[in-house]
Amino acid sequence: MKPQQFVVIGLGRFGSSLALELMDMGYEVLGVDHLEERVEEMSDKLTHAVMADATDEGILRSLGVRNFDCGIVAIGDNMERSILTAILLKELGVKQVVAKAISILHGRALTKLGVDRVIFPERDMGVRVAHQLVTPNLLDYIEISKDYKIVEMNVPSCMDGKSLSQLNTRAKYGCSIIAINRESGIIVAPTALDSLYEGDIMVVIGSNEGIDQFEEEAV
Ligand code: ADP
Repeated sequence: MKPQQFVVIGLGRFGSSLALELMDMGYEVLGVDHLEERVEEMSDKLTHAVMADATDEGILRSLGVRNFDCGIVAIGDNMERSILTAILLKELGVKQVVAKAISILHGRALTKLGVDRVIFPERDMGVRVAHQLVTPNLLDYIEISKDYKIVEMNVPSCMDGKSLSQLNTRAKYGCSIIAINRESGIIVAPTALDSLYEGDIMVVIGSNEGIDQFEEEAV
């Protein structure tokens, strides 16, 4: 079942933006921070915001964190506190625990403790921005394995009006256009007869090498 209730521990830049986005999406969010000003800032924006030290097991129990579907440890300034909090959330029975890591070693420790998902926001964002900087039409990408990815890119003017069969991306680059997103709606699994227009966004799947070649031509 999809998680509905989230507890976000640490309301710094990462934790607070994640908590606000979850609220915007209609979920219930309890925010916890040990700094009064962080809690005050968020108190009218989240379902609840509580000032507490998340490394205190008794406090976490009294907040009823075990009833939450997902706990996010967004403590980025202190590895020891992040690790202690993650252990407590797991021990208290939070169904899914996600934690932000500030270094590879920190990430390894969190994984060993059984944290369900470890994220490296700064590292991942750095990688993402680097890709976007060198590929102007690239909007987003997902690595599906070491060798394959899915990218979302703007349709450049040189492809305006061209059908998928004319572009022939499968034969030329070994990659497939799996969706076309345009103002009038999204075309999922387009056929060879569908055309691309400037202003559309295309979603492409393929090998890293094939997609990189395709991107180079798509400027
Ligand atoms: P960011 O890079 O996302 O801004 P920060 O390290 O600045 O991350 O923020 C981490 C937040 O976690 C801070 O607001 C800090 O007060 C909070 N925090 C750190 N330790 C604890 C703790 N033991 N209990 C609750 N909140 C904590």
